Amino acid sequence: MSQNTQQIKLGILGGGQLGRMSAQAASKLGIYTVIFCPEENSPASQVADETIVADYDNQDALKTLSERCDYITYEFENIPTDTVDYLNTLKRNTTFPKKKLLEVSQDRITEKQFLNDLGIATTKWKNVSSPEDIDVTDFILKTSRFGYDGKGQIKACKDDESKFATFFELYNGQEIILEHIVDFEDEISVVVARDMHNKTYTYGPMLNVHKNHILHHTHHPSEQYKMVQDHACEIAAKIADAVNLRGVLTVEYFVTKDMTLLVNEIAPRTHNSGHWSIDACVASQFENHVRCVCGLDVKEPVAHAPALMINLIGDDIHYIQDFEMMRNAHIHLYGKKEARAGRKMGHITVLNPEDIDYDALIHKRRHEK
Ligand code: AMP
Repeated sequence: MSQNTQQIKLGILGGGQLGRMSAQAASKLGIYTVIFCPEENSPASQVADETIVADYDNQDALKTLSERCDYITYEFENIPTDTVDYLNTLKRNTTFPKKKLLEVSQDRITEKQFLNDLGIATTKWKNVSSPEDIDVTDFILKTSRFGYDGKGQIKACKDDESKFATFFELYNGQEIILEHIVDFEDEISVVVARDMHNKTYTYGPMLNVHKNHILHHTHHPSEQYKMVQDHACEIAAKIADAVNLRGVLTVEYFVTKDMTLLVNEIAPRTHNSGHWSIDACVASQFENHVRCVCGLDVKEPVAHAPALMINLIGDDIHYIQDFEMMRNAHIHLYGKKEARAGRKMGHITVLNPEDIDYDALIHKRRHEK
């Protein structure tokens, strides 16, 4: 390592589990971390060196963050772009990834247009503002901004007028996108890390299984999608180039029955589907994110074992004893006190999962609930 990383101070906007695992990766490199978030005792602050508790528009607090840190990043997509602008006026070239990526990924309409302009296929879509604009039989309506884990969206068909009319009423005044329903085979994702010298490495594709719109488990490698690996990684790298990425971003795809890839979403950050890389790679998505943001070279994320990552959502936290003594299970908990329904409490990465029927274990558990 040419640079003494022990002199670097990294600020992270956001206090969730992605910030926590980024701070842990930074700590491994001797990098000092400052979390900036509105909550006391957040999952990220519990493992960071320092926390500034303030709202994202608190300019005095942002000034303090800027003075304390050499580099700043963010761990979730709903950080106001004004915050990134303000940090850049205080100190140029310290906040990464740059605003362009946030702008693109915060708004589904901007995102789809950006992808299509790059020649990247997405679901068919259009901007809609009232029930009269609907001209397809089966569709999904989504709010253009601030939707996550299936929130702010509804699947409907043209005959369900009362159902989708209510959606328009509920989100009156917000931009709404209509997407054609894709009869996909699976959902996969690629994490891409790109450094200041434009050197790029990708993780994946990962095969992701969702339950109730929340990622439930991820397989890496995804053997059945080896044939689309190059294409998926090329798309991710193309997006990274187009936003001049410094850090990590994630691309989620639908794979159709004829193996066509349609990009569903870009996350301007590390991703739940990349958590397996902590235990299965020489450099995790978090380490590479920290490295790239802090001006270090991106490291080849060589995977040394196949992995299955299982999310612990809400009450799943009570099942960790099933995994605790398994010699190839790595348990990660996020320090959240209350196990609310749908809340990501932690995850487990099982290395070399082919030895044991973990799928059966997962399904058994789900069945018992
Ligand atoms: P999103 O918030 O866009 O990631 O959507 C959440 C989930 O809804 C996705 O992971 C898919 O399982 C499903 N979904 C979203 N958009 C579509 C679509 N156009 N066609 C079929 N399923 C979709």
